[in-house]
Amino acid sequence: MKIYLTFDVEIWCGGWSDLDRRFPASFDRYVYGRSPKGDYALPKTLEILDRHGLKGVFFVEPLFAARFGVDRLATIVNLIRAGGHDIQLHLHPEWTDEIRPLPFVGATVKRQHLSYYTLDEQVALLTMGLDLLAQVGCSAVTAFRAGSFACNHDTYHALRQVGIGIDSSLHAVLPHSGPDLRDKIDFLHPLEFEQIRILPMTVFRDGLGKRRPAQVGACSFAEMRDAIESAVTRQAAHFVILSHNFEMLKPGLSEPDRFVVARFEALCRYLGDNRGRLTAATLSGEPIKIGAPIDTALADARWPGTLWRLGEQAMRRVI
Ligand SMILES: [Zn+2]
Repeated sequence: MKIYLTFDVEIWCGGWSDLDRRFPASFDRYVYGRSPKGDYALPKTLEILDRHGLKGVFFVEPLFAARFGVDRLATIVNLIRAGGHDIQLHLHPEWTDEIRPLPFVGATVKRQHLSYYTLDEQVALLTMGLDLLAQVGCSAVTAFRAGSFACNHDTYHALRQVGIGIDSSLHAVLPHSGPDLRDKIDFLHPLEFEQIRILPMTVFRDGLGKRRPAQVGACSFAEMRDAIESAVTRQAAHFVILSHNFEMLKPGLSEPDRFVVARFEALCRYLGDNRGRLTAATLSGEPIKIGAPIDTALADARWPGTLWRLGEQAMRRVI
């Protein structure tokens, strides 16, 4: 089974006022995450992957660079590229109205989700994102993920127009992901739609029977391991895991969250130890196998893993 370790890489400034003053410190936190214990944003993420011989797929958000300069984007991309990882496109259209000059006439008001933009506007944003990445030497982008997974039907027309053939923007648990596609396509298994190969975010059933996305910060390691093994048993071809550049940091701080660090370390160790059976794949490698497995039931985790996660959540609140 192919495991896609995907990371959405983005910068936030903790609000949209006073951006120019806030940006430098935000960039430092989101890119480096410096603390006395180490740099727990991108550097630590890359170090852990490398230590276990794993490659990741980094969906990099470039629109911020249309405001703050491509040198900043180059810093991010160079860190990732040094490890030989996949660099693909992520877009947070929240940046659109902060770009000077405005990228198109209707960009004066902040609109969060890509699905709030017309087809032509989506094409303009995707083109701008690809151009920014090309300016820092990433001209082989083949895959896309919408910010907050907030794609819609038009996104697939737009992707085709700009020549991107792979998408990973479907998220079954988030209602704003593909709201006009819910009764048209399968959100749980790889499929082809509007000539785009779609690799949806993996969702499994936790030990309490609830649907849960395979996100590093949201699952205990035991839940993730159970779900992976359960997906193998169901002969699934793909398993998509989500994390972010800042997921090993405590919310709002430049300080490691030791629970998430331990989960990510354990996950990478597990994948490294099971290589051959489980392959950490990239999206510029072999094509995605389309279709549902013979057993289409959701992968599941057992209750001890879920109980462990609930315990970790309680501990995180007090530590
Ligand atoms: Zn994002």
